[in-house]
Amino acid sequence: MFESLSERLGGVFDRLTKQGALSAEDVKTALREVRVALLEADVSLPVARQFMKAVEAKATGAAVTKSVTPGQQVVKIVHDELIAMLSGEGPADALKIDNPPAPILMVGLQGSGKTTTTAKLAKRLKDREGKRVLMASLDTNRPAAMEQLAILGTQIGVDTLPIVKGENAVQIAKRAKQQASFGGYDVYMLDTAGRLHIDEVLMDEVQAVRDVANPRETLLVVDGLTGQDAVNVATEFDEKVGVSGVVLTRMDGDGRGGAALSMRAVTGKPIRFVGLGEKMDALETFEAERIAGRILG
Ligand code: GDP
Repeated sequence: MFESLSERLGGVFDRLTKQGALSAEDVKTALREVRVALLEADVSLPVARQFMKAVEAKATGAAVTKSVTPGQQVVKIVHDELIAMLSGEGPADALKIDNPPAPILMVGLQGSGKTTTTAKLAKRLKDREGKRVLMASLDTNRPAAMEQLAILGTQIGVDTLPIVKGENAVQIAKRAKQQASFGGYDVYMLDTAGRLHIDEVLMDEVQAVRDVANPRETLLVVDGLTGQDAVNVATEFDEKVGVSGVVLTRMDGDGRGGAALSMRAVTGKPIRFVGLGEKMDALETFEAERIAGRILG
């Protein structure tokens, strides 16, 4: 993850830290390279601009250029601003899943990794928090997707709502709620249908399900490899259905990382988890410190 970004920044910072004294011009040149690296990582232009403004204000002062280790100071300023950009107002709260059964609505485009992430998160809640979880697939258009969730459920030891042919998404959501209440589950997860693109039919359906389920959390799953598109998808979903957090998948790939960097700044929504592979354990909580560390190498 972030290979190219961290390589580029690594090069810039290597040069900076090796130089003993730094002129204001040296710092400016380095910061220009940082800006280019951010844009190449598909960070949106307004976000890159805002970032650079914050960094420049701190890094071009005499306190930095006249200090004993000016290069390190600049690197630290960039590091701190990366964390600020990634975490927005502050770190994300824990998932709101008290008051059982707590509904979690999983939304996102087809192929984003929604079903996989639903199962990964269910497993995490079961293994780490001892929660009894029920998963339900609402993807009535794609029987294979419903089967896929059932197979994953068996694999990780988490119950899935039995598939009943002919039901629509709202009916399934209602049945999941009932079963979760009567069955003594702590959490029930609704894996909604995705589409290849955002369209009205999809949004209407997700809204109808949301209104029935009244979810405690609505997690949007987006493909982290899609960069700026991921941020646009998040903005649209948030406007239409309201999102409480984002899960960025495929962060194990060699994506440019811009989605992670712009997500909080553009949407205001916290990244809650990152997907780091196809395996059921490949889900981590999002930590700005760790991501900033990876970006800076
Ligand atoms: P959905 O259509 O959104 O439900 O997507 P799926 O959950 O079926 O995932 C589509 C493909 O992406 C599957 O082959 C998953 O194994 C894969 N996938 C999901 N999350 C990740 C991830 O974090 N990293 C990688 N490398 N693959 C993932």
